[in-house]
Amino acid sequence: MLTALARTGEEVALVLVGKQVSDATGGELLGRVRQLHPHAKRALLVPSGAWAGQPTAAAILDAMAVGRIDYYVPRPAASHDEVFHEAVSSFLLEWATDRRVVPHTVHIVGEEWSGRAFELRDVFQRCAVPHDFCLADSDEGRELVAKAGPEAKLPLMVLPDGRALSDPSNTELAEAAGAPLALEEHAFDLVIVGAGPAGLSAAVYGASEGMRTLVVDEGGIGGQARSSSRIRNYLGFPKGVSGARLAEQAYEQASVFGASFVFFHRATGLDRLREGLNVSLSDGRRISARAVILATGASYRRLGIPSLEALNGAGVFYGGAASEAHGLSGKDAYIVGGANSAGQAALHLARYARRVTLVVRAQSLEAGMSHYLVREVEATPNVEVRTGTAVVGGGGEGRLQELVS
Ligand SMILES: Cc1cc2nc3c(=O)[nH]c(=O)nc-3n(C[C@H](O)[C@H](O)[C@H](O)COP(=O)(O)OP(=O)(O)OC[C@H]3O[C@@H](n4cnc5c(N)ncnc54)[C@H](O)[C@@H]3O)c2cc1C
Repeated sequence: MLTALARTGEEVALVLVGKQVSDATGGELLGRVRQLHPHAKRALLVPSGAWAGQPTAAAILDAMAVGRIDYYVPRPAASHDEVFHEAVSSFLLEWATDRRVVPHTVHIVGEEWSGRAFELRDVFQRCAVPHDFCLADSDEGRELVAKAGPEAKLPLMVLPDGRALSDPSNTELAEAAGAPLALEEHAFDLVIVGAGPAGLSAAVYGASEGMRTLVVDEGGIGGQARSSSRIRNYLGFPKGVSGARLAEQAYEQASVFGASFVFFHRATGLDRLREGLNVSLSDGRRISARAVILATGASYRRLGIPSLEALNGAGVFYGGAASEAHGLSGKDAYIVGGANSAGQAALHLARYARRVTLVVRAQSLEAGMSHYLVREVEATPNVEVRTGTAVVGGGGEGRLQELVS
């Protein structure tokens, strides 16, 4: 059945395997699924209480560690087993998010892949907002521009409610994302700079204690975590959670308690007043607060090769594994780096790209990557590892065409 579906190009979202993963047929079937339907979620159906049996528990952990399954699901116990339904729904949501078929997508139309159109895509990626991009001279692009009317200017953003924003500024984007108007007239108890996991946690606890709380971020929500395709060690998510999903949930939780957010604005100054503090924003506005939490995290080191910097968004992406995977279907991808972020990115891209090559300066993957990821990378057939190598140059005409190592 799976072979027939692959032959006719049908999408398979989820395969639940009822066989023992330790027996040959179970393992072989899962291997075939990965080949035939690389995007399908794969889970093992196990009897409830399977963890009690040491060999079964060890086989499940092993299958997860080498990426043969995404997770396990206890067999339905009764005819209406809502726990089972919830597990299936959450797999389907993950699959739909990966495949960009979730509803409420923001459409971005641009003249080229790089420049301001890329900045807008990046902004939405950083806000964990489902979005897609098309060129203005594609069929879809022409249709969206025509619908927006004769005044439309590129890059164009079409929101899920049908509103179109022509070449929007960061302030317009922040307001479209719900930033409070007349910010300077509000008196906040707490201003948090940074909407990564630390800033979002602070927002949940500040707002839930009744403080008037504002979160400012120069990007969107999630910080570094938003580029993680699966975080397995966050409290309360035994199955793992994508960084984008974690950030969305935390953002919703903080908002429900009344926290406000201003995205796409950098905090540029902090001054003590006679009473309280003032935070200055990149657009010159000043916000007063009784307390300020700086949760500014860390930013990425860059390659610093001018010919590659010029191609940012046109084949060169920083931490873009989750956002760019879709566009890499059937292509070759190179990942520069040999630690955990590179390992997670390789495993995620391997579901889409024809071949993924990790370019690692160290002499071995073990030098910088967690053991469980090394095992998974080694067990993924279309991932190649080149150790003792660094990228020193590269370029292309409007799009990345070569890398020099
Ligand atoms: C690809 C990847 C995978 C990862 N996987 C895991 C994992 O599986 N498990 C795990 O435990 N950890 C993981 N991490 C690490 C984890 O994401 C970080 O430890 C975590 O995000 C740190 O949170 P933070 O809120 O302190 O800072 P950050 O996430 O760095 O967020 C800081 C925020 O502050 C904002 N900011 C900075 N300066 C300013 C300013 N002046 N004005 C306004 N805003 C500002 C930034 O835009 C950013 O949004 C991963 C990281 C990456 C990159």
